[in-house]
Amino acid sequence: FKVPHPVNEPVKSYAPGSPERKELQQTYQDLKSQQLDVPMYIGSEEVRSGNKLPLTMPHDHQHVLGYFHEGDANHVTQAIEAALAAREQWANMPWQSRAAIFLKAAELLAGPWRARLNAATMLGQSKNAYQAEIDSACEMIDFLRFNAKFMTEIYAQQPESSPGIWNRLEHRPLEGFVFALTPFNFTAIAGNLPAAPAMMGNVVVWKPAYTQIYAAQFLMQLFRAAGLPDGVINLIYVDGPVAGDIIFSHRQFAGIHFTGSTVVFNSIWKTIGNNLHLYRGYPRIVGETGGKDFIVAHPSAIAKEVATGITRGAFEYQGQKCSAASRAYIPANLWPEVKQAIVDDLETFKMGSPEDFGNFINAVIDEKSFNKISKYIGSAKNDPEVEVIAGGNYDKSVGYFIEPTVLLVKDPAYVTMCEEIFGPVITIYVYEESQFEEMLEIVNTTSPYALTGSIFSRDRYAIDLATSKLLHAAGNFYINDKPTGAVVGQQPFGGARSSGTNDKAGSVFNLIRWTSTRTIKETF
Ligand code: NAD
Repeated sequence: FKVPHPVNEPVKSYAPGSPERKELQQTYQDLKSQQLDVPMYIGSEEVRSGNKLPLTMPHDHQHVLGYFHEGDANHVTQAIEAALAAREQWANMPWQSRAAIFLKAAELLAGPWRARLNAATMLGQSKNAYQAEIDSACEMIDFLRFNAKFMTEIYAQQPESSPGIWNRLEHRPLEGFVFALTPFNFTAIAGNLPAAPAMMGNVVVWKPAYTQIYAAQFLMQLFRAAGLPDGVINLIYVDGPVAGDIIFSHRQFAGIHFTGSTVVFNSIWKTIGNNLHLYRGYPRIVGETGGKDFIVAHPSAIAKEVATGITRGAFEYQGQKCSAASRAYIPANLWPEVKQAIVDDLETFKMGSPEDFGNFINAVIDEKSFNKISKYIGSAKNDPEVEVIAGGNYDKSVGYFIEPTVLLVKDPAYVTMCEEIFGPVITIYVYEESQFEEMLEIVNTTSPYALTGSIFSRDRYAIDLATSKLLHAAGNFYINDKPTGAVVGQQPFGGARSSGTNDKAGSVFNLIRWTSTRTIKETF
């Protein structure tokens, strides 16, 4: 069997006056003017607990987009039961039928559902139209189309046989249910974490971040519109630890597909370890976590390219990408030109609501993030050892707005060089040109993370040196490009060290984690 050959979904430009821009603007306004009542989806039911909490816009936090029904421990149990009830029929469905459901979801999203998902991501997560398009449209579509192809590759994996002996592999789903625990920052990640295990025949309980529920409910509706049977994916809005208490002590817990912060993943891993005796088997633990992503410029690099790598890599989606550049190492010979180019570029960045398509910078996700990020900036501003090259101001009176902020430090181990801030802040250290190799050692050892990183250089020896010295410093390593923007099927994504289990989202390596293979030998 071959599925339709996947091609990456082309990114729409939303040029002024284009029909797609008009449609997106109209959908944005339509959704903004409504107040949705957002249920959980458990089995065949839309569940309304009555405990309604508001969904607000980060860029205008008094504006209520709707109310979601928060669940409790009983809803977690119900979601597990609904998943287990659906399991046998789903696992026994021919894989081609499962693939067809998700391929249909991809086509619906490429067509009539595109504007809705993009508008929801703009409204609920404060992404500009371009950032929403590459996330909730293109990347989500790519995950579904490419995963269907990876399914064919996995199911085609068969061993050798010989006359009189027929060996075969049966790529079974895991025994039990999978928990998808998803972050706020990418709609496509939120959708892929439940979809990928489901494609491989698993049943799923899905808990999104509260700040991503607005778009998550539309994804759930999309999967249902594409024909996903009841109970295969169950979407619940329950406080993380409340959900965790029940799920991680359930005998049928078979795996977790997680993306989020390192601290949460660490605690989940420990809980699972402590509860091993409760389970039937060893649960699959797949998690993508934090980053402290770097840009290193060699003295031979082109200053303007380095500056653009910094401004785009650090500030797209307000720096709230796990792959966002947040520390940069610039040689002294390039610094004056890089600095000027950064300042010039940032002057063109407008900040405000995504409703105005001209705004590059929107709001950070919520008050908690705003307070955390502004605290880092505030203490840097008060530190005589730190120079603020650009930005540094913030205001939460209407929305959670923080200016793109560039800090220059004298100490390469300064706190903002080491810790994940997850906001529009990049810290720069200027090194002596002769110290490139020593600099690489500092890059390698400064932070516990190893997600993404870039080297800018025109010198092949320097590129090769950086590639080998930084062998384990990044799961996704870029040469002469910014460290964000991985494309499904082209740059499989994931990091090691404290950045996760490196099971490479958007590749066969991830999908294969959702199978447990039986080997059968039959003798004649
Ligand atoms: P988060 O860790 O706060 O939350 C992730 C999910 O876990 C949410 O659904 C949340 O409700 C839940 N949760 C939180 N505490 C929990 C607990 N004690 N028990 C059970 N569940 C709990 O992360 P976030 O703020 O939504 O996302 C930002 C983080 O995600 C950043 O650290 C970023 O680097 C990371 N991220 C990584 C990747 C990657 O591919 N490596 C991609 C995107 C985001």
